[in-house]
Amino acid sequence: MAPHSGRVALVTGGSRGIGRAIALALARGGADVALVDRSGPSDGPTVREVRDLGVRCQHFRCDVGSSEQVQGLAAAVTAELGAVSILVNNAGLTRDNLFLRLGDEEWDQVLAVNLKGAFHCAKAFSRGMLKARWGRILNITSVVGQMGNKGQSNYAASKAGLIGLTCSLARELAERSITVNAVAPGFIRTEMTAELPDAVQSDLLRQIPVGRFGEPEDVGEVVSFLASEEARYITGQVLRVDGGMLMG
Ligand code: NDP
Repeated sequence: MAPHSGRVALVTGGSRGIGRAIALALARGGADVALVDRSGPSDGPTVREVRDLGVRCQHFRCDVGSSEQVQGLAAAVTAELGAVSILVNNAGLTRDNLFLRLGDEEWDQVLAVNLKGAFHCAKAFSRGMLKARWGRILNITSVVGQMGNKGQSNYAASKAGLIGLTCSLARELAERSITVNAVAPGFIRTEMTAELPDAVQSDLLRQIPVGRFGEPEDVGEVVSFLASEEARYITGQVLRVDGGMLMG
């Protein structure tokens, strides 16, 4: 049987990039999928691609940084698709600047989406998982949350915070067969990284033992495994998907 058959998965930032690859991997495993973002079209290409795999898929518009909007989202998703048992907190953004030039607004915006967004969604959707006594929460962090990066102190702090949230939540929810893990991609080819200058890209490539940048699908398959029943004894972990960029 398909590993996610009969389950409803919700992927924030699921219309493009890494989130799209995660949504497709979960759908290939038989999950019905809710895609969430602020601006993606309700009948866009990812919705159609997921439906072509023979599962249900709906797009929901929501800013995960808003607690009210996430509460509304939880009600709407449950009414349309049923209770969510796989939550993937993938929505994220960058507002890079050197530390001394970093303004309050850039700090707050990044923390509000990358960290508080995951808090809002975990809170809204873990209730149903507790009731069902089964669930998977996957937080998409970054190797930058573990090694830091020049010009990304806000982003690194948000991603390190996600790791702390992951471990604490994993301890709280473990007894109800709910696992909580973080996946930490290295450098993955998406719109987020396409903006980096060529010199920065070649410097990064030299640091990757596997010798290539990652593709969104490299992350999607790992998330799909962690969301499966087979991964039931893995919780509170950070799994790096980075071609060996950071080891140990
Ligand atoms: P993209 O910029 O391509 O996609 C980000 C997604 O998040 C979009 O769908 C965007 O949609 C959504 N989003 C942003 N803000 C919000 C919000 N407030 N509420 C709801 N949705 C939101 O990024 P990637 O695919 O590259 O990255 C996905 C995740 O992976 C991020 O968390 C990122 O930090 C992480 N990551 C990426 C790496 C990479 O190399 N690409 C490396 C390590 C981690 P919209 O704008 O319409 O809201």
